[in-house]
Amino acid sequence: MSSPELIGHEDVLAGLWTAAGAGRLPHALLLHGPRGVGKYRAALRLAAGLLCEAGPGPPCERCPACARGRAGSQADLFVLDPTAEELETIPIWRVTPRHDHPGVETVEAFLSLRAREGGWRVVCLRDFDRAHAAAQNALLKILEEPGEATLLVLESSRPRQLLETIRSRCVAVRLEAVGVEATAELLADAGVERADALRLARWSEGAPGRAHELLREGALETVELLSGVLDGRIAPLTASARLQEAGGEFPGATDAARARSKARAAVVCALELARDLQRFEHGVEPADLAHGAALAARGRVGARPVARAVDALLRARQDVEANLSPPGILDRTALALARVNAARRGTTEGVAR
Ligand SMILES: [Zn+2]
Repeated sequence: MSSPELIGHEDVLAGLWTAAGAGRLPHALLLHGPRGVGKYRAALRLAAGLLCEAGPGPPCERCPACARGRAGSQADLFVLDPTAEELETIPIWRVTPRHDHPGVETVEAFLSLRAREGGWRVVCLRDFDRAHAAAQNALLKILEEPGEATLLVLESSRPRQLLETIRSRCVAVRLEAVGVEATAELLADAGVERADALRLARWSEGAPGRAHELLREGALETVELLSGVLDGRIAPLTASARLQEAGGEFPGATDAARARSKARAAVVCALELARDLQRFEHGVEPADLAHGAALAARGRVGARPVARAVDALLRARQDVEANLSPPGILDRTALALARVNAARRGTTEGVAR
């Protein structure tokens, strides 16, 4: 499911490869835009297309350089991916060598070497807004003198978290969501059933990376359970128990961290459902809402019970970060939605606090 096609942005990449061929590519790019639109994948594909022996251009997938790229053994590419390394933040010792972290590969050490294959050297820095100020300052020195045929690609969904001096040394390239239809097509191409692909694409608001994350997290099942609670088809504590048992891939180095990620994902799904309900109560057409399809059928509840549910879910979201027990958080999440259903029926019977 980690399809390299799941990107979009081919026009932007083509422009950058053309600039590279003409010697006009800047030394540093800042790929920014909404979360989950494929910025980091685009950065990796840009790099692959520079390092390809037929490049710069779309990677040919046949040459030795492309084969090394696929095998993850491309010597002229340095990748810093805090998500894969399970780093909450990017420390300075991943940017510049430090005595207290000997033997760690760093951006600076990588760039001090010549290109092994005599062509480009590329550094891809995912979520660089997660870098400490010290790490950003260390990168700043590198950006001042990156060397020949060198490209640094910084990727960020929150570019304002970057030092102004970093931003000013990068050429900013914005990548937009690719759209619901295009996202659904990318998912369908990756083997997701068409109806599910379309639902995930709508929920992600046309951001393929987010749609893919929702798929991995089992959002199809989560939303089904939570919608069942909203409709009164599923008892809240039954839904909560099933959410705890449900499968899915969640980030985290330990079981406890993964359980927290799972609870967070369920609360986020519930919040998105409740917020769509809130927009619906305030007159937004269901067709314009990610979760609109089921709303029209349910009918209105009134703005107050929905607002109370949103508040309860926001507190549940904070409880996740405060490290409270995931089962308790899932119970409160399901109960918050059950109270909306109870308000619709004009009664609170059967909905225990
Ligand atoms: Zn190639």
